[in-house]
Amino acid sequence: LTSAEQAVLDEIEEEDVDFLRLQFTDILGTVKNVAVPARQAEKAFTEGIYFDGSSIEGFVRIQESDMRLVPDPETFAILPWRNDEDSAAGRMICDVYDTSTGEPFEGDPRRVLKNAIERAEEMGYEVNFAPEPEFFMFQEDEDGYATTETADHGGYFDVAPKDLASDVRRDIIYGLEEMGFEIEASHHEVARGQYEINFEYDDALSTADNVATFRTVVRAIAAQHDLHATFMPKPIPKINGSGMHTHQSLFTEDGENAFHDEDDEFNLSDTAHSYLAGILAHAPAITAIANPTVNSYKRLVPGYEAPVYVAWSDRNRSALVRKPAARVPAASRVELRSPDPSCNPYLAFAVMLHAGLDGIEKDLECPDPVRENIYEFDEAKREEYGIDTLPTNLGEAVDALEADEVIYEALGEHVAPKFVEAKSQEFEEYLVDVSQWEIDRYLETF
Ligand code: GLN
Ligand code: MG
Ligand code: MG
Ligand code: MG
Repeated sequence: LTSAEQAVLDEIEEEDVDFLRLQFTDILGTVKNVAVPARQAEKAFTEGIYFDGSSIEGFVRIQESDMRLVPDPETFAILPWRNDEDSAAGRMICDVYDTSTGEPFEGDPRRVLKNAIERAEEMGYEVNFAPEPEFFMFQEDEDGYATTETADHGGYFDVAPKDLASDVRRDIIYGLEEMGFEIEASHHEVARGQYEINFEYDDALSTADNVATFRTVVRAIAAQHDLHATFMPKPIPKINGSGMHTHQSLFTEDGENAFHDEDDEFNLSDTAHSYLAGILAHAPAITAIANPTVNSYKRLVPGYEAPVYVAWSDRNRSALVRKPAARVPAASRVELRSPDPSCNPYLAFAVMLHAGLDGIEKDLECPDPVRENIYEFDEAKREEYGIDTLPTNLGEAVDALEADEVIYEALGEHVAPKFVEAKSQEFEEYLVDVSQWEIDRYLETF
């Protein structure tokens, strides 16, 4: 056993952990878990835990269904809502191995992200990511089902008594801190019933793990208060949706921020400019992964602080990529504003990173920033500035993904076709459905 693995065994002993949840995510980003008695932890480290992968979304074909989970000891945490005096449940995030080859399974989203990080490392970079996940909390009905009645009617940075859900948010933050999160800030977002909690940046893999954990913790603790927390991107029409802005930077192996340049007008290095150009060049294909639901595209419309146009800015928040003000050189970074919290964070981070690295490798030219409010541009002005539009629905986004070799290949031979298949089906199902809007608009008119 490694010392990290031994430390987990010690903690299991000390904290009276009786069950261990071994977690991984499917292609759609849903957290799956297998619970094992804690005394199997040692075996899990040395041999792995076998499971049947054929019933996991997009994982394997039936005839090759044996998978092996190997827990990452760095991800051990005790579940705060499952913790009392004499028993506790722990969890670890796992890597998935293919039992027929003994190799890491290429259909494991965590593996897809590791591949992207390895590419960055080969280029001499370490990768830092920080997300800003937003979410809504809704009341439950008498039977415990979610309604679309928000938990409060507050607005941006409101404080109690209007921000009634602040007690819940406090408990969520305590829960996250118990699981090892460094919380930077938490506030009421613009929409009623909408919140944002920011946690400290970390390497890209840890941050993706954190996003997966974050969603589980938020939902579990909200449920303890009889509220339904949702990461659905646009639950209520005509008010802001929920995004997951993602801040990104590359550091050199000796700890310097490769994105910072004191002498540049924007304090961004050539490397950062090329990375940014790569993100813009691949933005339509990234959208399929970072905005993977039909509902995601109800958020990406003008007027609700969500991006629509492919441009960057050092000032304006209507742009797709923003260069936030940085107080210290280490904080120079770019912020992609399109992702929403329904995405699979492993796949989303992987494609963003590949896009940026492609920009660096090809030395792509970065366009000038746009400093005006792009929502107010008409088509002629957008054309004059050479500004493209993001895909307007899931179908267009999937087409863009298929047309973009760099991003499609970044997902790997296993995930790319499965993702396209699943999302094409989802979009077709939506297209043939008849919505309430249509009934309201047409039933009595015609
Ligand atoms: N909710 C907005 C979005 O959809 C972001 C609002 C903000 O953080 N300023 O991205
Ligand atoms: Mg924010
Ligand atoms: Mg926000
Ligand atoms: Mg932001």
